[in-house]
Amino acid sequence: MNAEIISVGTELLLGNIVNTDARDLSITLSELGINVYWQTVVGDNPERLRAALAVARSRAGLIITTGGLGPTCDDLTKQTVAETFGAQLYFDERAARELRAFFRVDNGGTMPENNLQQCYLPVGCTPFYNTCGTAPGCGFTAADGTVVMLLPGPPKELNAMLQNGGLAFLRTVSGAPIFSHNIMTFGMGESAIESCLRDEMNALTNPTLAPYAREGDVRLRVTAKAETQAKADARMAPVIALVREKLGGIIYGIDTPSLEATVLSLLLERGETFAAAESCTGGLIAKRMTDLPGASAVFRGGVTVYTNDAKMRLLGVDEETLRTQTAVSRAVAVQLAERVREKLDADYGIGVTGVAGPDTDGVHPVGTVFVSLSSRAGTAVRALTLSSRSDRSRIRTLSANHAFDMLRRGILGLPLELAEV
Ligand code: ATP
Ligand code: MG
Repeated sequence: MNAEIISVGTELLLGNIVNTDARDLSITLSELGINVYWQTVVGDNPERLRAALAVARSRAGLIITTGGLGPTCDDLTKQTVAETFGAQLYFDERAARELRAFFRVDNGGTMPENNLQQCYLPVGCTPFYNTCGTAPGCGFTAADGTVVMLLPGPPKELNAMLQNGGLAFLRTVSGAPIFSHNIMTFGMGESAIESCLRDEMNALTNPTLAPYAREGDVRLRVTAKAETQAKADARMAPVIALVREKLGGIIYGIDTPSLEATVLSLLLERGETFAAAESCTGGLIAKRMTDLPGASAVFRGGVTVYTNDAKMRLLGVDEETLRTQTAVSRAVAVQLAERVREKLDADYGIGVTGVAGPDTDGVHPVGTVFVSLSSRAGTAVRALTLSSRSDRSRIRTLSANHAFDMLRRGILGLPLELAEV
């Protein structure tokens, strides 16, 4: 089955917003094994939407629209789609009940009348009720066999709707349900991983195994076709075990969103804490950790010690060391990690110092970073020479990744040095 996504919204054409809905949907569809051959953007204009739908139905078996489901007069997607595919609309009582609950009508709230327009859905459709907003979405098979899905524009609503009914609908209509797991790795490049697993990847057909690089880490996606999640999991388990055996310590989780999420859960399990002293990452480690709910139980706090003066005043880094070895040095990274751990009474201390560029410090090339981890077991340093092609933002992201990876390895008692960086 091949798909076309039609994103409806004049703001998209004006460049006021980025089409993240199409991106999120494309990721989801590819994970289900459905090919997206086309993405179309059209303004809030029924004539041009009609034209886009006519083209889409001539070339795609699945058409998914985003946006224009709301109660205002520019929300014309549903009417236009119904017209195009000759679908009758009915008034969905459950959608109306949920709308009244959303506006707390029974508790004295008022609901503008035009909202009820959202409750009309195509006869015979599978409704997707909206858990975050007001407009319900739906999926249906049109008289000509085209499968159509209508989803709301706000990204939070769209993604929640995929989880609550949308994915299940897609699995049913696409025939061959596909399930996948992501093996998350850090510390080896995509091509190195690929050469290490080439034979396995080539030999596998169901499940399949493929690497995808993100900024700073690589995920390996295992994908199985099976009737149920349990059957798919049974097929995937031996492959995951094999990858674990081959890649070992570079795997930081299965289906975990990030290194910091892994660190958080490891520390929570053990009732341990960490603190961070950051120079070139400028608080990024603290930011990424505190983005996660529950961080207060494991993150004691951090300092951004950007200048030499701040390093000395706030953490008592030796003036002598700063002078003789400069701020970007193994010795300073060690002092940052040890002092912040001591000052904040944490189980682990992290220290990061480096040159994020684009200017150098006159001594080291851009991308020279020292990441240090201090714990009961002692203090270690990872010396990084990140590619000179990396920009400032990438150098900071990678440095923070290395800090979280050292912490993860420290907690698990794995070797702290990487075979390949
Ligand atoms: P509402 O009930 O909020 O009106 P809707 O389904 O009618 O929802 P739109 O009116 O088209 O959707 O868009 C509402 C908001 O959702 C937009 O202002 C924008 O912020 C966001 N949005 C819409 N389409 C997209 C998209 N393709 N990508 C990212 N955000 C989008
Ligand atoms: Mg709208």
